[in-house]
Order: sequence, then C-alpha cells, then structure tokens
Amino acid sequence: MPHRIEASTCGGFCSVSSVPRRAGLAVAVVAAAIGLNLAAPRADAVAPETVVRESARQADALDLALQVRERQQSLVQLYRQADARDRALVGRKAVLAQYGYTGDPGAVTAVLPLASYRVSAGFGLTGPLWEAEHGGQDFGTYLGDQIVAVAAGTVTEVAYSGAYGLRTIVTLGDGTEVWYCHQTDVSVYSGQVVDVADPIGTVGSTGNSTGPHLHLEVRPGGGSPIDPMDWLRATGLTP
Ligand SMILES: [Zn+2]
Repeated sequence: MPHRIEASTCGGFCSVSSVPRRAGLAVAVVAAAIGLNLAAPRADAVAPETVVRESARQADALDLALQVRERQQSLVQLYRQADARDRALVGRKAVLAQYGYTGDPGAVTAVLPLASYRVSAGFGLTGPLWEAEHGGQDFGTYLGDQIVAVAAGTVTEVAYSGAYGLRTIVTLGDGTEVWYCHQTDVSVYSGQVVDVADPIGTVGSTGNSTGPHLHLEVRPGGGSPIDPMDWLRATGLTP
C-alpha cells in the first residue's frame, strides 16, 4: 500500500485553513499595536440595559422608602394632634366639672355661673331690700371670683345699670337674656360671642347690694324674669 501523500489528508484545505489562522494572528498583532483589548467579555460583566433596569429598581425602592417615612411622620403627627386634643378635652372636662357639668364636653349646653357659692336670696322674694319683687337668684361668694357664661350666646350689653350695678347681658340663641349683675369687673364686650363656661367677669357688689354676690336673672325672649334655679335645673344641672 503506497503511503498516502500528505496532500491527500490535507489536500488543498491545508493551505485554505492556514489563511484564517494567519489572518487571525495578523489581527491580534495589529490590535496589540494599536492597544485594543480584544479579550472575550468577562462572564461577570453587566450589560448596560441591565444596569439601567437595576438603577430604576433602586430608585423605586428609594421612592417607596421615602413614602413609607412620610407616612410614618404624618402618623406621628396625627398621634400628637390626637394626644393634644385628648389633653384639651380633659382640660375642658375639668373646667366644666368645676361649674357643675360632668357629662360629655361635646354635648354641654349649660353650666353654673360660679365654681363655688352659697345660695342666698331666691327668686320672687319681696322685702325692704328690693325695690320690687326679687327678679333673680343671688349667689353669695367672694369679691373677684370669676363668673362664667351659663350658656353660649352673644353679649348684648355691658353697662352700669342702676340697682343692678355693673351688668352684663348675654342673649342666647333662643332669645333668652341672661343677666349677670353687681360685677366688679367685666372681661367681655358688647357684640362678643361667648361659649358656655367662658369667663364673663368677676363678682362684685356694685349697685344695690349689701355684699359681694352675683345676681343672676333669666328672661325668656327678653321679657319677664323666671326663676333661674328652675332654668338651670331644666338643663340637667344641680345648682
Ligand atoms: Zn339679687
């Protein structure tokens, strides 16, 4: 058997296949000469679109974290406000309790005019002390004690008025006038809207009076006076 000549195994292919090999070498040499790095991409390198996606996700996460933080802060704010409201309510409840009202502060319609007093001359009395029938209820207490509005309304008069001394009139929503008489000082002005238990002024002995006391009158529709004790009791208070 004759030896196969080398050409039979490689034939013309040898020379053909050697061309690209030689060309590849030439490319590598040129690339090296101009400093190009033609190394294959590393397995752990990240494609640009992946980087964009990743940073978008990070931005979303940051945005979410900020939103959560904002929510937490506004929640803290709400808790603080609720706490302040609770404390104000407790304060209001305490004030109202001082003036004889122990119910829900949000439902209060009337309170007693003084925190402490001694019931003195009652309504309808007649005698040498009064020019006419006693048109109100007297509450004896100390000079300078604070008087509060027994009900919400509008101050319609603040003036000295003969036997009544320094008098404040508060007209309620239903037209009832409440007179606070013999005051030594006032803390409201005519036209002022007052809430129930708002300070009106202080107890005095101005006008026809034998000593510091509050003379309270209640006049439905601004007409004839009725017994203030009955009116106060009708609101649920125990004067
Ligand atoms: Zn009186």
